[in-house]
Amino acid sequence: MSVESAVQAAYVVAALLFILSLAGLSRHESARAGNAFGMAGMAVALAATVTLAARSSSGTGLALLAGAMGVGAAIGLWRARLVQMTGMPELIAILHSFVGLAAVLVGWNGYLSVEARPGEQTEVAPGLLGIHSAEVVIGVFIGAVTFTGSIVAFLKLSARIRSNPLVLPGRNLLNLGALAAFAVLTVLFVLEPGLGLLAAVTVLALALGWHLVASIGGGDMPVVVSMLNSYSGWAAAASGFLLGNDLLIVTGALVGSSGAYLSYVMCRAMNRSFLSVIAGGFGNEGSAAGDVDHGEHREISAADTAQLLKEATSVVITPGYGMAVAQAQYPVAELTRRLRELGVPVRFGIHPVAGRLPGHMNVLLAEAKVPYDVVLEMDEINDDFPDTSVVLVIGANDTVNPAALDDPGSPIAGMPVLHVWEAEDVVVFKRSMNTGYAGVQNPLFFRSNSAMLFGDAKERVEDILRAL
Ligand code: NDP
Repeated sequence: MSVESAVQAAYVVAALLFILSLAGLSRHESARAGNAFGMAGMAVALAATVTLAARSSSGTGLALLAGAMGVGAAIGLWRARLVQMTGMPELIAILHSFVGLAAVLVGWNGYLSVEARPGEQTEVAPGLLGIHSAEVVIGVFIGAVTFTGSIVAFLKLSARIRSNPLVLPGRNLLNLGALAAFAVLTVLFVLEPGLGLLAAVTVLALALGWHLVASIGGGDMPVVVSMLNSYSGWAAAASGFLLGNDLLIVTGALVGSSGAYLSYVMCRAMNRSFLSVIAGGFGNEGSAAGDVDHGEHREISAADTAQLLKEATSVVITPGYGMAVAQAQYPVAELTRRLRELGVPVRFGIHPVAGRLPGHMNVLLAEAKVPYDVVLEMDEINDDFPDTSVVLVIGANDTVNPAALDDPGSPIAGMPVLHVWEAEDVVVFKRSMNTGYAGVQNPLFFRSNSAMLFGDAKERVEDILRAL
């Protein structure tokens, strides 16, 4: 068997491993195995690619390749070891930006080594030049949109810039205009490739990516993360076409389509249409939520909360981002165990976008060994709140906001939420009266059956455990 066929066979094996990885990652129980399949697939793919490169590269080329891989692996290991669960979305966003940048560089390299050398012998047959040129512009375009879009997402998720949407006048027209200009530039480039045209496409796409994500705000960020995941897949697939690498095309398409599907699932969970998310602006229009007088809030102590819990006939815990920040999952798991020992049934209600990435809460609770069977999805538990004695809202805010249902002018109007206020008593664990990620005030905190337990969620849960 020639080296080329061995490499092709290795690519098929790697592609299958990636598919097994995606299948594994779709359930918690098999997620570890899914990760292992993904790592194995990547190892096979890297080995095959390096073998192929070794045949056509000089010693210096190989040394550069090995150096780049070494540096990349070291940085990757270092970041992955340091990253907190709450920092995952921004790490993912910045990694997407690298995929975008790589696609832009591959596109430019394609141009410089083929179109920029008219009349010279290149690897592209003259009859296929038009297709090559189209691959170059499309690859550069998707890559550049992904690059700047992901950088803005990174800055917003890591709170380096505000998550509010940027609202430029006629922003939809700007986006549509940019797409139309891209179509025209693509046709011009295919007819007559030129440096100026490719530079124009690059600048246009960089600006579009920036604007697209800057104009999406607050609560819509989960969809943005998975949308950029999808874009990064398509950018990789475009590079695959340019480089003639089948594995990159398959992998890119897998990432692109699974990201698109995840975006669809998230949109459905948030009752938003995909187009309205892309068109942006969520989290800004609507009533001036900050100016409304909601009345007074009531405070409760940890000891009184413990008393409420002891007397409860059923308890539901709805965790959110604050539980992750406080790392309160361990005392929460302990509290669950203690209450169950006392004969108080405890269940969890998980909102699909609670936390900062899909499945965030499920992972934390699984880590703290909370049994899977008491962890329910929002739809499974939402009808049970009227029969619940006490709800503990631990570091959640937007996901339990009744304004989503009651106030059509609210920026989060229409988003499904956990109906915690229908329970007899609600205790809200947070540090202040500040808003959540979407930046809107929560009328739940001012309801007569709600009480605030201020402070770090972990410390307060530990206080309750002591009082029990
Ligand atoms: P929110 O961001 O709405 O609220 C979290 C609350 O936790 C805050 O109000 C904060 O209040 C409190 N908090 C923070 N730290 C602590 C602490 N140490 N102890 C106690 N409380 C704390 O979180 P939710 O999970 O309810 O909602 C998720 C939001 O994030 C939604 O708007 C969603 O759209 C968005 N999002 C979701 C993503 C996903 O994929 N799931 C991705 C990106 C964004 P205080 O400061 O007063 O303590």
